[in-house]
Amino acid sequence: MTFKLSPLSPPRRLLLGPGPSDAPPEVLVAMSQPVLSHLDPAFLKIMDETMEALRVVFGTGNRMTLPISGAGSAGMEAAMVNPIEPGDRAIIGVVGHFGARMAEIARRCGAEVETIEPTWGQILDPADIRRSLQKKKAKLVGVVHVETSTGVIQPLEEISRIVHEHGALFIVDTVASLGGIAVNADALKIDICYSGSQKCLSAPPGLAPLTVSETGMAALRARKSAVRSWYLDLTLLDKYWGTDRVYHHTAPVSMIYALREALRLTLDEGLEARYKRHMDAHRALAAGMQKLGLEFLVAPELRAPMVNAVKVPSGVDANAVKKRLLEEDGIEIAGGFGPLAGKIWRIGLMGYSARLENVERLLGAMKRIMGR
Ligand SMILES: *Cc1c(COP(=O)(O)O)cnc(C)c1O
Repeated sequence: MTFKLSPLSPPRRLLLGPGPSDAPPEVLVAMSQPVLSHLDPAFLKIMDETMEALRVVFGTGNRMTLPISGAGSAGMEAAMVNPIEPGDRAIIGVVGHFGARMAEIARRCGAEVETIEPTWGQILDPADIRRSLQKKKAKLVGVVHVETSTGVIQPLEEISRIVHEHGALFIVDTVASLGGIAVNADALKIDICYSGSQKCLSAPPGLAPLTVSETGMAALRARKSAVRSWYLDLTLLDKYWGTDRVYHHTAPVSMIYALREALRLTLDEGLEARYKRHMDAHRALAAGMQKLGLEFLVAPELRAPMVNAVKVPSGVDANAVKKRLLEEDGIEIAGGFGPLAGKIWRIGLMGYSARLENVERLLGAMKRIMGR
């Protein structure tokens, strides 16, 4: 018997989950362009342009700024495995699922990990981080800017100040925030900052933009042992993406086309305009949810515009609503996980998806499905 496939024909969806977001048509067109070799001078130029655009979006002058070939989690792993040597102490803020993942990765890198864990839906108290740093020297402090499992924004200024006062590296996950709210990696003195292509940048999933400060690079050069991961070793990646152009691995060429195009659209729109569009979409959603009698999980001042955690009213089956939205309206939203499973829906307004017409479409569908 021969196995055959029919031509690919995925359904059309409106992606309003916490990533991936809808890719704009220009990005999809960019991905269908002819494949170049990863060492073709024309491709090297595309790499340079991508790095330069990423610097603008990250708010950094860091030379070491590149997209890691892999999902956001590969960025997270690179941000942990490069600075950590076995026995180093790492302090990780855990206000949800992604902070917990960061702590797990740090442990697997051989770090002695201390987690700071407020209740899910809250933010970190900088005083807790100070206390932990005073107790014993730490190599790094890792926090998540927008915790996608709860929809909170973590303020970073004070934590950054405390981390640097104690001579530790400041590592920040901006997978959900980059392109949707300001990141300002240099102003915040972030030493390793990583993101993902598929959230507020609206390229497909598969790349993890990452930037490393000079202090961060110095820490990597001062390592006594080789980085435990060959694939994610930033000093090797730097030789390929930097001026040496030494082959390391075959870059996902079409994905880099997509990211470059997504960054072109981002810069054409303007960062401030893009942030405002995310905020406008979030406000419209919040107003609409209130009309439907639905509440947000997070206090207004902590809410991330791109991840909206809405409480499921008692007596409503969270999963059934989510399923009907997908089947009847072609709209994807997400549920909660961990302690929030069945208790919240997570509505993403990320990148190209963060538009008022999408908010209207979702509100109309929820109103009908819930009979409100
Ligand atoms: C989505 C997300 C990740 C993981 O990204 P993947 O591309 O799914 O690996 C990490 N951190 C945060 C905050 C995220 O939102």
